[in-house]
Amino acid sequence: MNETEKARWIEKLPLLQQIIEKQEVLWRNPLNGDSLTGIAQSGITEADVKDASDRLKRFAPYIETVFPETAASNGIIESPITAIPKMKEALSATYETTISGELLLKQDNALPISGSIKARGGIYEVLKHAETLALEHGLIQKDENYAKFAEPEFRNLFAKHKIAVGSTGNLGLSIGIMSAKLGFDVTVHMSADAKQWKKDLLREKGVTVVEYEDDYSKAVEEGRRQADADPLCHFVDDENSLDLFLGYAVAGERVAAQLTERGTIIDENNPLFVYLPCGVGGGPGGVAFGLKLQFGDNVHCFFAEPTHSPCMTIGMMTGLHDEVSVADFGLDNQTAADGLAVGTASGFVGKKMEPLLEGCYTIADETMFKLLTMIADTEDIRLEPSALAGMTGPIQAINNEVPKSDSSSAVHLVWATGGSMVPENEMESYYGMSRK
Ligand SMILES: *Cc1c(COP(=O)(O)O)cnc(C)c1O
Repeated sequence: MNETEKARWIEKLPLLQQIIEKQEVLWRNPLNGDSLTGIAQSGITEADVKDASDRLKRFAPYIETVFPETAASNGIIESPITAIPKMKEALSATYETTISGELLLKQDNALPISGSIKARGGIYEVLKHAETLALEHGLIQKDENYAKFAEPEFRNLFAKHKIAVGSTGNLGLSIGIMSAKLGFDVTVHMSADAKQWKKDLLREKGVTVVEYEDDYSKAVEEGRRQADADPLCHFVDDENSLDLFLGYAVAGERVAAQLTERGTIIDENNPLFVYLPCGVGGGPGGVAFGLKLQFGDNVHCFFAEPTHSPCMTIGMMTGLHDEVSVADFGLDNQTAADGLAVGTASGFVGKKMEPLLEGCYTIADETMFKLLTMIADTEDIRLEPSALAGMTGPIQAINNEVPKSDSSSAVHLVWATGGSMVPENEMESYYGMSRK
């Protein structure tokens, strides 16, 4: 993008000037509309999401067998919803903003197997690929017990097949751990910002890790190029994968069941506000889509991005989606928030979100660290920095007068996207960051 074009965009969308200055802003999506119309336009149906949900149920006996930590949920990979009243008080006091409704935390930091939201889409896509191969080779029928996937003949088949992914870290963990467990020959192409402990952990599990000096987009590009040259290699395409999206979308029915179980009613008078940290967009997009299927116009979803990496915000504001990068507006894409350091958003997701998303907002790294310490102190919950991006959502919504967000009957659900895999010494240093 040249300087003239950039100046024209800023004139048209003055909020871009604040984004360039790395201020924390909220953008309301003017295209957000009727949910049923938005869902219909997406080309993805309720039946597609149900198909994904059913597949995860078929695999539950296998997951329970090979990951005993999922026994309590019978092999279903799910996280709890936790009320965080003390954090709500601390937030309200810090920002001098009253949050009248309930504040809940979706604890994907505690998801079994890979400890982040990526355990939804990433693991789903690998399982679907494994099922497709097993069906093709006549090793399984859909009505059989999938615990069979742990047997040697399955591993022998998968050993002849490759899986590859490009990742800043957490997607690599999910894809790597699940693929290696099934017996696939799996390669994770890691960007320069990926943490050493993630690379070490993957290598320990038998995953091939290829490191790049460049950022995420380069790792993805190189991974895709190598995979394309090999017909036995399945490339998990974080930017365009429908399977990833559907795996994330299953979260909608799970949240609906969990809210019902805890007696939380969502309807016209009791709206649900959901705040989702966003990197390339697949995770938050899939979850938002699943929630829209469940709650329609009564759920209002926001994406949260670092002030240095607001790729989805800029992509959706301008409507340029993956044709624009944060660098076009002079931003450096440097953030401590793993998974959120993405310069160009998924166009596939951004376009689907146009009629369904309430808006996007940005958050500074310093704010994430401050909130990381705050929730550890008030609720004894340890999250990684990216997982805090959702936490200023209620404050942003209320201060920007998003209708009903200040209501005492509003339910605010902050999606905590990761944390439990972070080594203790790393977590201690995160905790100390806000003191610096
Ligand atoms: C990947 C990730 C996200 C965002 O998911 P995208 O699909 O990249 O938008 C948010 N939080 C954490 C911890 C992640 O790893």
